[in-house]
Amino acid sequence: MAKNQTSVIIENSLLNLLEDPAFLPTLQEEARTKAFHSLASILSTPNKIHKSFLRIPLDNGEVVRIPAFRTQHNDTLGPYKGGIRFHESVNEEEVINLAALMTLKNALHEVPFGGGKGGVAINPRNYSARELYLICKKYVQYFSDILGPDKDIPAPDVGTGQREMDWMMSEYKSINPGKPYRGSFTGKSVLNGGSLGRREATGKGVYLTFRYLIHDFVTKHQRNLASGNNAFGHTALGYMNRPLTMAVQGFGNVGSVVALEASRCTYLTNKVVAVSDRNITLYNPDGLDIPALISYAGTHNGDLPTTLEGISEAGVTAQIMGREDILYMNVDVLVLAALEDQIRVDNVDRIQARIIVEGANAPVSGEADQRITNNGGIVIPDILANAGGVIVSYFEWLQGRETQFYSEEQVFDLLNKKMQSTMDAVYPSYFESARSLRQTCYNYAVMKLSTNLYIQGKLY
Ligand code: GLU
Repeated sequence: MAKNQTSVIIENSLLNLLEDPAFLPTLQEEARTKAFHSLASILSTPNKIHKSFLRIPLDNGEVVRIPAFRTQHNDTLGPYKGGIRFHESVNEEEVINLAALMTLKNALHEVPFGGGKGGVAINPRNYSARELYLICKKYVQYFSDILGPDKDIPAPDVGTGQREMDWMMSEYKSINPGKPYRGSFTGKSVLNGGSLGRREATGKGVYLTFRYLIHDFVTKHQRNLASGNNAFGHTALGYMNRPLTMAVQGFGNVGSVVALEASRCTYLTNKVVAVSDRNITLYNPDGLDIPALISYAGTHNGDLPTTLEGISEAGVTAQIMGREDILYMNVDVLVLAALEDQIRVDNVDRIQARIIVEGANAPVSGEADQRITNNGGIVIPDILANAGGVIVSYFEWLQGRETQFYSEEQVFDLLNKKMQSTMDAVYPSYFESARSLRQTCYNYAVMKLSTNLYIQGKLY
């Protein structure tokens, strides 16, 4: 992630806040400025950074020490919350940025959690199941004092899933006998206290933010958009009543679900013409058979077919292209559901899609986003688009406390309602201003945090 990207956007939000009459309106000028400076210092730095080296005996007898992190950015709204990432590029700076994003994501959607993030600097594909089990156990042992259902609640992120959360919660339980443990980790398997729908939640939410914008919002506000100044409003009107094409970068838990949702949505008639993974891009201008690709990936370690034999085994018709080609396709919608830093100032001019949706965290740099926005495109930002995961994590945490269980239908219904109420708050103000949707969302989240911090007496 570009260094300090999150803090630059937070800074912009803070500056906008000072001009906003809704920011602590009851305070006199001097007290307001003081509160502003306190707020700036609180949001620009994490509360705590924890790091360690996990000592792991490998299967071959070698012992390695692996860097591991947990950053607790802010807990104004509730216990720290955010995933643990297993990826070789994990480093302290990245975990700090991602933790700040979680604070904003939760504030934006009114999820009563703060922001945190963890990471272990490994490529999980290079480790056996036994070694990964030890890494999970050690992670919890090293950070056990700072974790817990009312302190800091991790969840899956890139490179981790239900299995890792199950292992971690089990270790937490053995370290804390007799204490509540069900809410210590979310994203667990359903048999182990996980929520139905958690695995699909992020992808479903990502698709919803796009569908709600283009279908529901734009259709309803056609007249205002036609006479308004928002450049994307005009672009969007041109998209009405014509089939949209979509490309999805990343075919994991997020990307594959977005692609499936898109291919099933009949009234937006969007064809998924390209999907990619860490090896290749698959392209078919008539639309790809997404269910067939999902079942192929399910039996091939999550990977897409990289050869002609693989393609015929999967039963799909497609052209195989380079991994990066997905970014530059002539499509209407590009969903980025892989890793950060995909669209930057150095490649933004090659992007043809006008609607970019951030399924991953921070795949578009702030400057690139501004350029897309200025040119009449839109980026639906991570903190808005990919919050489905943490929202359903919240439902899982609640179910753990209440020892009751929601059906899948109830979970998706609650998820849709929560995300729609956020969108009903931010989409209108986005269309009324010249700001990017990202900046609009950040402003909204920062305003919420400032009000809460003030009420808690922390802005004096
Ligand atoms: N890792 C996910 C995210 O970045 C989910 C976090 C959670 O469920 O706590 O939003």
